[in-house]
Amino acid sequence: MPKTNGTLGFFENVNRSFDRAARFLTYPEGLLKQVRTCNSVYTVHFPIKTQHGYEVISGWRVQHSHHKAPCKGGIRYAPEVSEHEVKALAALMTYKCALVDVPFGGAKGGVQIDPNRYTPDEIERITRRYTAELIKKNFIGPGVDVPAPDYGTGGREMAWIFDTYASFYPGQIDATACVTGKPITQGGIQGRVEATGRGVYFGLREACEQAEDMKRIGLSPGLADKTVIVQGLGNVGYHAAKFCREGGCRIVGIAEYEGGIYNPRGLDVDAVLAHRRETRSILDFPGAENIRPSSDTLERECDILIPAALENQITEANAPRIQAKIVAEAANGPVTAQAEDILSARGVWIIPDVYLNAGGVTVSYFEWLKNLSHVNLGRMGKRFEQSAFDRILHTVERLTDTWLPEAERRSIVHGADEIDLVNSGLEETMITAYHQIYEEWKGDARIPDLRTAAFISAMKKIAVSYMELGIFP
Ligand code: GLU
Repeated sequence: MPKTNGTLGFFENVNRSFDRAARFLTYPEGLLKQVRTCNSVYTVHFPIKTQHGYEVISGWRVQHSHHKAPCKGGIRYAPEVSEHEVKALAALMTYKCALVDVPFGGAKGGVQIDPNRYTPDEIERITRRYTAELIKKNFIGPGVDVPAPDYGTGGREMAWIFDTYASFYPGQIDATACVTGKPITQGGIQGRVEATGRGVYFGLREACEQAEDMKRIGLSPGLADKTVIVQGLGNVGYHAAKFCREGGCRIVGIAEYEGGIYNPRGLDVDAVLAHRRETRSILDFPGAENIRPSSDTLERECDILIPAALENQITEANAPRIQAKIVAEAANGPVTAQAEDILSARGVWIIPDVYLNAGGVTVSYFEWLKNLSHVNLGRMGKRFEQSAFDRILHTVERLTDTWLPEAERRSIVHGADEIDLVNSGLEETMITAYHQIYEEWKGDARIPDLRTAAFISAMKKIAVSYMELGIFP
């Protein structure tokens, strides 16, 4: 529900960013109103018999924008899920897809359950029933609306969604493309699991390479030896931390439900994860200080804070105490509008969610393409590339009379596999989008921040497609 105590609700927050961007745009009357609004909202309540008795489960699927088909966006399982939240997340998907040139409208789904209260068998039945409800109203399909994982869901749920859809449409040749984030054996793609975290890393690396911006906030360019605190050690947080660490950052703090840990000398993210698996908690990790409540971890000293959990984590209450110079929004909506004003006034640089976490949907797009083309990426070209490189290298070796060791030779002539193509496509997408947003930002001194620039960039692309449809003059 929208907040009533003077602070904005999540969807109002998203629309505030939209309205700020709209001030820099001139379009025919009604166009931006059409872009801003949620096009279709489907609410469903269905009964399920579980260990807790007969329960009525509430779920939603919101299609924010039909300017392109299909619609795209994850499905969230959490007890706090509401129509309001799903609308905000669906809207973010529209702008996110436009920013990274993924040709989809935005959507989002939510089921109001706490997955920890149910057995895998019960979650399977809830997932299959929710999918059947989507099918009934034509809210799922390769060309209609394509779900994916989000908070509380993963490959397992996507496999059930695919299987349910396929059994309703036997023989539909493109059925695998009805959902992304599937396990590899069910038509998934290499690199999708880590895609959002990897995208966060690529985006952050690009931002930190801009010497002028880094100077403004008092940091040296590049990621090397930057100190990082991550909130959330789920799929996105873990992978963002892992890739940032591999890219030269020092992970000094990690926050989870049960509390936080801090070690200025750096934390080995894999070791923390192993410790959590063993003890069910990140607390008491050797060499690190325990922090309680968990939220205090966000206020510790660091260069970069990566909130990678849920929305509304940095609010007007804690924003004045955030010490980070960069807030990298890996989650959707982690910084409230009021907190954003406070952080901006204090010179903290926010890399916005709508750009920074777009890596997930980007690789979902690659999975969808793979499913529709019915061929693995790399299958057609790999050997051809390999033999071409081999011939070139052999010629160079012959002309220079220098013969490379076999291992080096093999690494040079290696043809691209699916994972190589996915990662290179993701890197290209994140870098290109960053510079599009950046040019927008630097092109007009009145544009206050990267988020407004990102919304302007996305809204321009969406407006063009409406105009090209001839709906608006
Ligand atoms: N749930 C993810 C997001 O918020 C991925 C969506 C998708 O892959 O469609 O971006």
